[in-house]
Amino acid sequence: MKALVCLEPGRLELQERPAPLSAGLAPGPGEVLIDISHIGICGTDYHIWGGKHPFLAYPRVMGHELSATVRQGGEGTSLAVGTGVIVNPYISCGSCIACRAGKANCCTAISVLGVHRDGGMCGQLVVPERNLYPAGALNLRDAAMVEFLAIGAHAVRRSLAPKGARALVVGIGPIGLGAALFARIAGFEVTLLDASAERLEFAADKLGFGQSVELGAGSNEELMRRTGGEGYEVVFDATGNAGAIMNGFRFVAHGGAYVLISVVKDEISFADPEFHKREMMLIGSRNATKVDFGHVTASIAAGLVPLDLLATHRTTLEGAVEDLPRWAETKSGLIKAIIEI
Ligand SMILES: [Zn+2]
Ligand SMILES: [Zn+2]
Repeated sequence: MKALVCLEPGRLELQERPAPLSAGLAPGPGEVLIDISHIGICGTDYHIWGGKHPFLAYPRVMGHELSATVRQGGEGTSLAVGTGVIVNPYISCGSCIACRAGKANCCTAISVLGVHRDGGMCGQLVVPERNLYPAGALNLRDAAMVEFLAIGAHAVRRSLAPKGARALVVGIGPIGLGAALFARIAGFEVTLLDASAERLEFAADKLGFGQSVELGAGSNEELMRRTGGEGYEVVFDATGNAGAIMNGFRFVAHGGAYVLISVVKDEISFADPEFHKREMMLIGSRNATKVDFGHVTASIAAGLVPLDLLATHRTTLEGAVEDLPRWAETKSGLIKAIIEI
C-alpha cells in the first residue's frame, strides 16, 4: 500500500509499504482492519511537517482526521464488512483514572493516530473497534470532517454555559470556527476575535457570524463595549498563543468561564484578584469523546454544519507530497484540505 511518510521536518515521501495483512498484522481481538477513504489535513500535520511539534518521533505517517470502510473484523467485533466509519484517533488504555471516568480523551497513556503512532495517510490501518463509529447518513468526505469539529463541540460542552450565553471565540482557524459553529448550535450568542480580516470576512459572509472584532489597537475595549462592560459568559481560546491566552482573561464576565482549547508550551499567568473576583471557571479542553463525535455527526446529518464551505481544498496521497508543504506556507483561503484515497 502507499503511505505518505514524513521522514523528518520538511521531507515528505510517498512510500510503498506492506499492507497490514501481508505484514502479518491481522486485526486481533476487538480490532478492525479498515480501508482509509478520506483524510483531513490538520494544523498538527502542518506542525509535524514543519518540525514544530514538541514530542514527535520521525519518521511518521501523519493523519488523524479519518474516514474509512471496514475491511475485516477481528475476534469479537461486530461492524459489518463495508461499513463506512468515522475514526476516533485517540487510542486510550481503557483502565486509567481518566478512562474509568469516561474521559478517554485525556487518558494518561493516550496514543493519537498520526502523532504518537503512524496514522491514516496510507491505504489501511488496524484500529480498536471502539474507536470506530458508523458514518450512517454521512458521505465519507463529510465523515472525515467530524473529528476536527468534535474538538470545538467538546469545548462547548465543557463550558457548561446555558442557552443564550454570550460567547467570545478568540482565534478562528478550523478549530475556532468549529467551536463557533457548535456554540451557535448550543444557542450561544457568538462574537469572534481574530487578527485576520480575511478570515473574519469569510466567517461573516459565508457562515453568518456577523459579530466580530479584528485584533488591533482598541479591540479589547471594543469587545467590552459591546457587552456594556459586562464581558462574555464564556470565552473560548483557540489561538495557540500564550499572549492571547493571557489577554483573554479580561473578557470573561463575572461568574463566567474561560475554556482553553489550544495548548501552548509556555507558562501562562494571570492576576488572581481578577480571576477570583469573577469566580471564574478556568477549563482545559482536550481532544473529544464519543459523545462529541455523536453530536457532530447528528448536527451534520441535520444540515446544521456547512461542510462544503469548510472543505476548501482537496488532493490525493500522491498530490499531497507537493500540496501539503505549499499549504503549510500559504493559508490564504484555506480552511480544511482533504486527501482522498
Ligand atoms: Zn486535527
Ligand atoms: Zn486511559
